[in-house]
Amino acid sequence: MENSGEQFDVIVVGGGVMGSSTAYQIAKRGFKALLLEQFDFLHHRGSSHGESRTIRATYPEPYYSSMVMDSSKLWEETQSEIGYKVYFKTSQFDMGPSDNKSLRAVIANCESDSIPHRVLDAHQVFDEFSGRISIPENWVGVVSEVGGVIKATKAVSMFQTLAIKHGAVLRDNTEVENIERDGLRGGISVSAKNGEKFWGKKCVITVGAWMKKLVKRIAGIEVPIQPLETSVLYWRIKAGHEDDFTISGGFPTFASYGEPYIYGTPMLEFPGLIKIPVHAGQPCDPEERRWEPTAPAVVEMVKEWIEGRFGGAVEAAAPVVAQSCMYSMTADEDFVVDFVGGEMGKEVVVGGGFSGHGFKMAPAVGRILAEMALRGEAGEGVDIKHFGLRRFLGNPKGNIKDFEDQVNFCC
Ligand SMILES: Cc1cc2nc3c(=O)[nH]c(=O)nc-3n(C[C@H](O)[C@H](O)[C@H](O)COP(=O)(O)OP(=O)(O)OC[C@H]3O[C@@H](n4cnc5c(N)ncnc54)[C@H](O)[C@@H]3O)c2cc1C
Repeated sequence: MENSGEQFDVIVVGGGVMGSSTAYQIAKRGFKALLLEQFDFLHHRGSSHGESRTIRATYPEPYYSSMVMDSSKLWEETQSEIGYKVYFKTSQFDMGPSDNKSLRAVIANCESDSIPHRVLDAHQVFDEFSGRISIPENWVGVVSEVGGVIKATKAVSMFQTLAIKHGAVLRDNTEVENIERDGLRGGISVSAKNGEKFWGKKCVITVGAWMKKLVKRIAGIEVPIQPLETSVLYWRIKAGHEDDFTISGGFPTFASYGEPYIYGTPMLEFPGLIKIPVHAGQPCDPEERRWEPTAPAVVEMVKEWIEGRFGGAVEAAAPVVAQSCMYSMTADEDFVVDFVGGEMGKEVVVGGGFSGHGFKMAPAVGRILAEMALRGEAGEGVDIKHFGLRRFLGNPKGNIKDFEDQVNFCC
């Protein structure tokens, strides 16, 4: 097998947003990083492509809010470094039945974490958004300051460009087949399907929906990360109402709790269209994607929701654009950020299972993964205890069968 001869401090496998952010963080610290991607960079077959992702600090789990707040600052710093914008700020609006447990937890968390927010009843919501958003009488709304849109593909490109600028080497169309300890030299040997071999002191694996297969192959650990195929849906705003749905017109990013969980962004990426998808999907094999059209039942759910919430200003007959994407779900929807351990010890780090909500935190995740690889710890004050690789072992919640039932239910 051919050995590239070059030696790296850290080899990052997987060039989605997490791997690209990690490579940037490593290179920025003056270390030599190699980023390997199996397809073309900025391809559309993973989880990080597309026009937009929501950023919001309103989480039911307190440990995410602080990562979002850190990331919000890092998005601003990074876009200043590159010289163009990827982060478009607006407020975030969460809504749902007043007895919804997750929404109650969001409100409690905003209070204890001092996240600026206001809880509104149905009448106040109507006034707040000048009639553009309506909620039923038994719902509440939460307006919070930290919200906005991250331009997804543009952000991945930004991290890659900055990584190169800081000296990283980026290689696409290089599928990694094996990662093992180098018995002769120490460090980690990474083998690609095309026969090339690379050597690094450390390795970070950020392979998204391919994580389960790769971790099983290299470490024999069964991580129940289930790929789901999901669709981003755009709907047409009725003529004359377009300005009502813009960031400059005060429209927020939004999330609607309960069944189904619906989320969306203001009109930004396509003139006259607003993004309103469902947080759900169908289990899939990333090697054998079916690229199925959005299930009619999903479209029906969103139609009904649009008619109720947006008071006739959005055409609910059918979405006009649907873009396919993959989630990498864990059973508890928490991330997996950990050392592989065992024979690999702290030399190999994994970052995956971002469960459809990781993009906004990519700057913080990249920094954590870089610190773990370079220094053997996540960083001062960083708490990753909820993200253990082995938390599913012997835990009924981690049982793949139960998990698949849960996923099907959520569809
Ligand atoms: C429709 C949709 C909407 C979303 N909305 C939001 C949102 O509003 N807010 C938010 O915060 N998050 C959101 N997310 C989640 C977010 O986009 C993901 O959490 C994030 O993109 C995951 O990035 P990743 O780098 O882990 O995975 P990926 O982007 O899939 O990157 C993994 C990469 O690894 C490569 N790879 C795999 N195997 C190998 C191998 N053997 N060798 C080399 N390379 C390999 C893959 O080709 C891929 O490029 C959404 C996701 C989707 C799909």
